[in-house]
Amino acid sequence: MTISTLQKNINERLDEHYEEMVEIRRHLHMNPELSFQEEETAAFIANYYDTLHIPTHTQVGGHGVLAFIEGAAPGPTIALRADFDALPIHDEKEVPYRSTKPGVMHACGHDGHTATLLVLAKILHAHRDQLKGKIVLIHQHAEEYAPGGAKPMIEDGCLDGVDVIFGTHLWSSEPCGAVLYKSGNFMAAPTAFLFRSKEKADTAPSLT
Ligand SMILES: [Zn+2]
Repeated sequence: MTISTLQKNINERLDEHYEEMVEIRRHLHMNPELSFQEEETAAFIANYYDTLHIPTHTQVGGHGVLAFIEGAAPGPTIALRADFDALPIHDEKEVPYRSTKPGVMHACGHDGHTATLLVLAKILHAHRDQLKGKIVLIHQHAEEYAPGGAKPMIEDGCLDGVDVIFGTHLWSSEPCGAVLYKSGNFMAAPTAFLFRSKEKADTAPSLT
């Protein structure tokens, strides 16, 4: 595969912005918010775009945020999606960027998804005079609870006019630098279940 000059430039700019990605990721890691409570994270995302003068729609289907990059020439509309909620898990590690909220932690990597999408958007925006088509940045709230934030965001129009969408998920069991990919539906069948102890089976809450 040959890499175009544009791709090469974008890759080089991404490398140059690695430290910014780390900085954003650690800020989010220190300030996690649970599903449907992500007000500060949504404001952080929208503010990042505001400072770059990239237009946004906020409160899309809840705390969802959309941003839009318009290429110079006509072409397809491509959506890039990242989620930004955290989990009710206590952060036990000893690092400077440990969660500041007891019992809440970015334990699923959504801080990393958000940091990479924001910086990628910044780089793509800087190259918009060379892009064909439009890019929609979709920041989805409430991924952790089915059906979560996806459904209300779609009902609110986040996929209207979108020709193709890409999403990623960090996967810590794979070696650093490896990218696994698949087209079509993927990781899209969440199920909830409860464990009940035998003694407490009569009083445990029901899922239905
Ligand atoms: Zn996740």
